[in-house]
Amino acid sequence: MSDSIFGKIISGEIPSEFLYEDEHCIAINDINPQAPVHVLVIPKRCIEKLSDAQDDDQALLGHLMLAAGKVARQLGVEEAFRLIVNNGAGAGQTVFHLHLHIIAGRQFAEGKMVG
Ligand code: AMP
Repeated sequence: MSDSIFGKIISGEIPSEFLYEDEHCIAINDINPQAPVHVLVIPKRCIEKLSDAQDDDQALLGHLMLAAGKVARQLGVEEAFRLIVNNGAGAGQTVFHLHLHIIAGRQFAEGKMVG
């Protein structure tokens, strides 16, 4: 478990409502939402950032993608959402415990990665 805020949420040290939980990950609402739906899918085992992942993390990474799809269906946004991973401080990563942002419920500019 990491010492990051997400590690503390997963361990229960910081109380948080889990929208989804399974053996390997949780999903919570982002505390500072950038869209009407802004959910974080967080693995229970800490990988600091995606570029630290190794071959033996393959199953976990696949699991997170499947969990993101399930959470999107649970929230009714499965037809239109973005899945974002910020990797490294230069890309805006602020919590160094890998997580997937599910962003939905707003207009997305067609063909653009951001905005
Ligand atoms: P990133 O910038 O990709 O590292 O994303 C970290 C995200 O975690 C940001 O969108 C924050 O708003 C969010 N965040 C930080 N602390 C909490 C918290 N206690 N509960 C929920 N989300 C949080």
